[in-house]
Amino acid sequence: MEDEPGSAPSLRASNRKRVIQALQLLGITSRAHLARHTGLSRSTVSTIVAGLQAEGVVVDRDPDGRSATGGGRPPALIALDPGAGFAIGIDFGKRHLAVALSDLSHELLAEEWREMADDYDAGAGIAQAAELVELVLDASGADPGRVLGVGMGLPGPVHRTGVVGSSAILPGWAGTHPAELMSERLAMDVWLGNDANLGALAESTWGAGSEVCGLVYLKLATGIGAGVVLSGRLFEGAGGTAGEIGHTSLHETGDICRCGSRGCLETYASGTAIAGLLSRSLGEPLTLDDVLARAVEGDPGCRRALADAGRHIGVAVADLCNLINPERIVVGGSMAVAGDVLLDPLREAVGLRAIPSAAEDVEIVLGELGERAELLGAVALVLHEAGPAWSGPAPAVRQSEATKVGGGQ
Ligand SMILES: [Zn+2]
Repeated sequence: MEDEPGSAPSLRASNRKRVIQALQLLGITSRAHLARHTGLSRSTVSTIVAGLQAEGVVVDRDPDGRSATGGGRPPALIALDPGAGFAIGIDFGKRHLAVALSDLSHELLAEEWREMADDYDAGAGIAQAAELVELVLDASGADPGRVLGVGMGLPGPVHRTGVVGSSAILPGWAGTHPAELMSERLAMDVWLGNDANLGALAESTWGAGSEVCGLVYLKLATGIGAGVVLSGRLFEGAGGTAGEIGHTSLHETGDICRCGSRGCLETYASGTAIAGLLSRSLGEPLTLDDVLARAVEGDPGCRRALADAGRHIGVAVADLCNLINPERIVVGGSMAVAGDVLLDPLREAVGLRAIPSAAEDVEIVLGELGERAELLGAVALVLHEAGPAWSGPAPAVRQSEATKVGGGQ
């Protein structure tokens, strides 16, 4: 029987849920941070945490992540019990597949990477990902019944319905509903997100954007995408495709873009455009990785092409700064290895073109999670989208919702 809304027991239950959900998002944290995050008073948080500790739902943790034992001074940090639940992340890349498993104190228990053939389709990707999920579950000894859900990232537009739009990077996935396919396969809740969105979620949870209220993650690779996190939440827009900064039109008479428009940022500054430019100029076929390697070695032409790309990207980023006034722009994706060769011209263009206050407010930095950003973001997606690990009073019981698919999309 449900308690009446607004009654004292119902309020206690909803506050308890908030605290559990916040712990799921924060990992190892302090009571003070929990109070700030939930908006509850410190004394309310302390009372709820004490109850959860008595039930074994919450345990003391030291900053290194181990469960704290003895040692005199009362430990200040807490987390959800590590055995209580798990989140699985899957990252589908152009030529790789990666799967990771984390517990609810954000400790990564297993991670597997596999190289994939060019242009693998959704069927092949999902079959191999399901194998890797079995592998990480076996390797960690995690109970599959305690998995809260699976987050998946894909380099292409993901509509709110869960259907994948046309993607130049994985063309064989257009029109598919990967979360539904994976959920049928694993009998678990599955959420799907765009790779740039997941990079944003990961950098804001564990990387260069933690403690920042407005963050934009730029994924600069074969294509150009952005993920926007505002006040700790992913901003996905009406249909789920917010952040397509690569299709900002810079010149209305420029080249036709793969999206059908003209003069998009991607036609100037994507990895594909840069590799194409240098291949034509140098008369030999170069990949983006070739260009990046040569730039790192000091090749002036490759450095110039990346600097120009940084400037073009800065034009679109300046508009973005004017519109949403972010506190931090985090640059990730394979082009990030170019470092300041790319970032300095990007920063300069933002300084010149954004209104002074927006330009002053924003800090443009490299991501901290590197090529694992999207994979970790897929784990973070589960922590954000899945309901609290325990909704009832007994920690051992979790209601199965295995048929729900794509709840976050
Ligand atoms: Zn375009």
